[in-house]
Parts: sequence; C-alpha cells; structure tokens
Amino acid sequence: MSDTGSTISAESSESAQQTTTGSARVVKVAVVGTGLAGLVSAYYLATASNARVQYSVHLFDESSTIGFDSSSVTATDADGVSRRIDVPMRSFAGGYYSRVVSLYKSLGLQFHDAKFTYSFSELEQEYGDAKTYFLHGGRAGIFRQGGRPSRQGRLRWACDLIAVTFWYIYFSIIAAFARPKGGVSFENDIIPRHVHNKKRFGSEEVKKEYGTMNTDDESSVEDENRHIESLQEFARRWHIPTWFVNRFVVALFCAMSTCDAETILSAPAADIIDYKRKTFRKPHYLLSSNSMSAVSALTAPIAKENIHLGVAVKAMLSEGTTWTIRTVEEDYNHFSHVILATPPSRTAELHRPLVPVLRNVKANSVRVLVHTDDRVLNFLESDDIRDLNLLKTSTGTEATHVLFPGVYQTTSPASLNGEPGEDYGGRIAEDKVVSESVFERVVRTNGLVAAVGKMRRRQGRHNVWVVGSWMWDGLVLLEGCVASAEAVCAGIRRKCGDQPVPLPKGIV
Ligand SMILES: Cc1cc2nc3c(=O)[nH]c(=O)nc-3n(C[C@H](O)[C@H](O)[C@H](O)COP(=O)(O)OP(=O)(O)OC[C@H]3O[C@@H](n4cnc5c(N)ncnc54)[C@H](O)[C@@H]3O)c2cc1C
Repeated sequence: MSDTGSTISAESSESAQQTTTGSARVVKVAVVGTGLAGLVSAYYLATASNARVQYSVHLFDESSTIGFDSSSVTATDADGVSRRIDVPMRSFAGGYYSRVVSLYKSLGLQFHDAKFTYSFSELEQEYGDAKTYFLHGGRAGIFRQGGRPSRQGRLRWACDLIAVTFWYIYFSIIAAFARPKGGVSFENDIIPRHVHNKKRFGSEEVKKEYGTMNTDDESSVEDENRHIESLQEFARRWHIPTWFVNRFVVALFCAMSTCDAETILSAPAADIIDYKRKTFRKPHYLLSSNSMSAVSALTAPIAKENIHLGVAVKAMLSEGTTWTIRTVEEDYNHFSHVILATPPSRTAELHRPLVPVLRNVKANSVRVLVHTDDRVLNFLESDDIRDLNLLKTSTGTEATHVLFPGVYQTTSPASLNGEPGEDYGGRIAEDKVVSESVFERVVRTNGLVAAVGKMRRRQGRHNVWVVGSWMWDGLVLLEGCVASAEAVCAGIRRKCGDQPVPLPKGIV
C-alpha cells in the first residue's frame, strides 16, 4: 500500500476491481464532499445503475450533516414564527442555471421567482457614513419598488435615472452581441477541444483516451499564453463609463462572487458578460422549501449506511487496482473510482499529483451572519430598505438580505461608524447573532481558467475525478456543481463500458 495517491503505479484495470451481483457488475465509487457537486455526482451515479452495471456509491463528509445544508439554521422571526434559512443563499437564475433548473424539476422540487428588490449604497469614507445611490425594483416593479432614495434630491435622481437607464440598455446590448476576447466557452461546453475535432471525433484514438483524458498538455501551454480580456479591459474597449461599471456591475458581481472590486475588474469579462446575457429579464429563483428538500431528494437513492458524515478524509491510498479512503477513524476499501468534491486546497492535499495544477487557484474566506440586529441597515433610511441591500466598501460589497421581518443574513459584514472587529463596527451585537459561518469561495481568475483546462485533461487518470462549483467555464456558482457532476458521471460510466460511443456532449 502506498502512502498517498501520488505514487500510483498503473492505471486501474476495470475488470480486476469490480465484483458482480447477478449479471451486473458492481462498481464501488467514493464521493468525498457533500456540497451540491458531491451530492449530484452521487445521485447521478446511483440512479444510473442498470442491468449491466450497479454503482455502489459512498458519500463522505467531515461535516456532521450533509454539506449542502450543514450551515443552514432555523431562526424565529419578529412574529415568533420559526423558519429554516439557507446559509449561504442558494439562489439561481433562469437562463444561466439550465442544469440546476432541470435537475430540480426532475426531482420534483418546487421553486419560486424571488422577485428581489435592491438598494445600492456606498461608504463615503472608510468607517464613515454610507450614501444610498440607487434603488432597483427588479421584477417586483421598477417604479413601485425602485424609486428615489430618500436623501437624494428630485433633480439629481432624475438625472441619475436617465443616465443609469441609458447605460444599462447600452450594456445589455453589448452583452447580447459582443464577445470578450480570449473568452472561455460561451456555451460552458465541457468537452476538450480535440474531442470537437471532426476528424478525431469517435476515432479509436479518442475512444482509447476517453475517460483517462490522458492527452498531452500541448494545448495547456496555448491556454496559459492566451490573453483573456478582463472586465476592465472589456469596459474600456466598449467605452462603458467607469462610474456605471463600479457602481452597478462591480457592486453586483462582488456581492454575487463574494470578492473585492479589484478581483471582479480583473476577472474574465466572458464570465460576466455570459451571465448578463443569459439572465437578461430572467427570474431569480429560490427553492420553496429550502436546500433541505434538495438534500432529501438527492440522497434518497443512496443507502443510508453508505453516507459517512462527521468523517474527515485524511488520505487516499492506492492499493493494487483500487482506492482506500482513509478517515481519522477507519479505512474504507475497494473503491474503483474516487470523486473529489472538495474545495481545491483540500483536493490537492488528498491527491498530490494535482498540487502543481491547483497551486494558482485562489480562494477567499467569506463570513456569513444570520442575525436579528436591525442596526445593520441603519445606514439606510427605512423607506429605502429592500430585499437585498448592497453596501460598496473598499474591500468589496456587503450584502444584507432581509429574510423575514427582523431576520437578516449579512454576507461580508463591513465596519461602519465603529471599530473594525468590534460587534462588526457596532452594527451586529453578538447576542443577536443566530449563526456565523465562514466559507471558502474559489475566485474566478485567469489562474483558475488555466487550472480548469488542465484539470479537465487529467480527469479520470487513475480513476480519480474532480467536481465542484469551480470546475467549469463559468462563475463559481451552483451551476458549476451540476455541470461538473454531469460530466464526471458520464466519464465514469463510459470508462465502465456502461455507455455506448459515440460520445455525448456533456463529457469532461
Ligand atoms: C456567501 C456565499 C453565497 C453564495 N450564494 C450563492 C448563490 O446564491 N447562488 C449560487 O449559485 N451560488 C452561491 N454561492 C456559491 C455556491 O454556494 C458554492 O460555490 C457551492 O455551494 C460550492 O459547492 P461544492 O459542492 O463545489 O463545494 P462545497 O459546498 O464547498 O462542498 C465541499 C464539501 O467537502 C467537504 N470536505 C472538505 N474537505 C473534506 C475532507 N477532507 N473530508 C471530508 N469532507 C471534506 C466539506 O465539508 C464540504 O461539505 C455562494 C457562496 C457563498 C460563500
């Protein structure tokens, strides 16, 4: 037995590692991590079992409950009603999240148009006052829920409204037709380019390589040298004014991606433009009975005894042609395939050959508080409070979601009129905090784009696969979880001889 997964001697032989039940082969698969990516991978494989191949899927998570729902809490609103709250927020938009939407529909989950309304404010100086510069009614009604910020004069508001409307229309037209340079796939296509090549498509060569994706890395050099146009460059090229970009595009995408303004400005423009184009005039959904409903549906086909919670995986050991999953307490043996659905830093720890590829992937720590302290929105006049209240700061965007009367979810809380660190600048008292969670969020940088390209070519080597919200060509959101899970499951099925050639579209 070797110490780590990095000392694997040979590609596993499928025939040697599988048992049979009746006439079906049993393929044992370990999925490490039960965020959405891990859950969907497990679900897709468990439900793909058929007369030829039975997938015996085991889920592992260091968290004591399923990761997708492990930080969610129950809080009591101002009327004394207890409600389950998703932490962090799990919203998804029509147009961009086509895989999430069809998955949830196929699971029979109910979701609704959240009709979010927004307020936009910015800190005038560090730890100083904040100024509200725009209210947006979104799908709830631009005029009913939008309107003039209380402290803004009518003339100023009218001028702002005209300017914002003009540039918003211009930006939407640009997003619809312009293509950022060096952009990653607009269709979020997850097939390596060589598989698209007609001459090679379906050839013996591709069939042989498929699954291991053990291609040479020539195109990765090309990938790394490719210039990927940043949002800032794209905005300059199309003469979109800096104030519009900073106050709206950056403020919104900082809140969505939970990162700072500089990161968004240097992020691949293709990501942001792609998102804008696809979600134009589309609703933002929330699951009607929160993430717990998705967890129940996705874990239903997995045997209870195969769900191992509260166990941190410490190592993957190659043993002959199979993998052993080592946790603090015990070893779990004879896995034909391992799917790592962990954040990149943990993925690299567990599978050392991926260290060089994942070295340049950056992640932020993001703090999310569920609390009942009204003071958090004191920077707004009460008439200006909306569902989502964005506050631009020097480090990014604080977002406070008014969940129910008197219950708030604040992401990346900023210090304001107080000392940093002290009750979040005198805004959220400790005794009003229902829960505080810290998440690792991968940042979409050019380094990540290159890493995803390389990871794709390594998928399935030694039967190790990687999924996650970051393992695709797009913003680090739930859609990436489903896209990567779909691709990896198709890859595993193909490798197990469970799917006929030619290759379908969604493959790694
Ligand atoms: C504040 C915030 C708000 C967000 N809002 C949205 C939103 O509204 N819409 C949207 O689409 N996306 C949103 N996202 C992004 C999205 O939620 C995440 O990108 C996505 O949930 C990540 O899923 P995942 O399955 O890739 O990884 P994770 O959910 O991070 O799951 C990884 C799992 O691996 C487990 N793990 C790690 N190491 C080990 C180990 N050694 N052994 C065992 N288990 C291990 C962890 O416990 C965890 O459960 C938000 C993110 C944040 C932080």
